[in-house]
Amino acid sequence: MRLRGVVVAGLLPVLMVGLVTAPAAGADAPPYGAIGDLKLAKAEDKVDMPLVAPPSGATVLFDGKSLDEWVSVDGKSPAPWKFVDGSAVEVQKGGIMSRQKFDGHFLLHVEFRVPYMPKATGQGRGNSGVYLQGRYEVQVLDSYGLQSQDNDCGGIYKVAAPLVNACKAPTVWQSYDIDFRSPVFEEGRKVKPARISVLQNGVAIHKDVEIPLDNTVAGLGGDPSKPGPIMLQDHGNPVQYRNIWLVPLKD
Ligand code: MG
Repeated sequence: MRLRGVVVAGLLPVLMVGLVTAPAAGADAPPYGAIGDLKLAKAEDKVDMPLVAPPSGATVLFDGKSLDEWVSVDGKSPAPWKFVDGSAVEVQKGGIMSRQKFDGHFLLHVEFRVPYMPKATGQGRGNSGVYLQGRYEVQVLDSYGLQSQDNDCGGIYKVAAPLVNACKAPTVWQSYDIDFRSPVFEEGRKVKPARISVLQNGVAIHKDVEIPLDNTVAGLGGDPSKPGPIMLQDHGNPVQYRNIWLVPLKD
């Protein structure tokens, strides 16, 4: 037994070095490493969008330093996402939502990037999502170079495809500026649906789209006449977010 223990102890440092330095045979490239021979439509598709500072009057939801404004979607646990690069967080262990709830008319700014997952396809490739009031998803996905459908990146999930595919390449920082109008209720009856306009990387991909639903797939649901949080989806992929803020707007 003692001899066996010595052998194991002697091997341990070697094994540990191997774990750190030698990728498993056939492993994918690191999700935020080089994008290899991915064919770019334009050179700027691999240029990060700049960080956009919150304007005065903005509610800063994530500045890279703290997830104090967020909670797990169970409403109780701390937001479990991983901090990366001192300015971003990476999806893991479940979705998160803002502690504050919002209604009325507002602008939400979100910066995100999707991993490079060349062996994955469709909804399994860099999936996450930004939910307004926890109910209406603007899809996050690696849809680079595709003919976008209503479940692709920039789609209002299963409601409206983006007008154009404005995606940058995977691993590159992108932005959403989402102008959201809550549905209007009078005496318990919906008299105006929710409406969404979106700029992706500064390009208009939705213009005042009416949302005929009270909850898109995997939304939090609940009473659509009540305020709701901003929710960021965990769909099992290491999507990253940074610099998230919201500004109330007047009609
Ligand atoms: Mg999604």
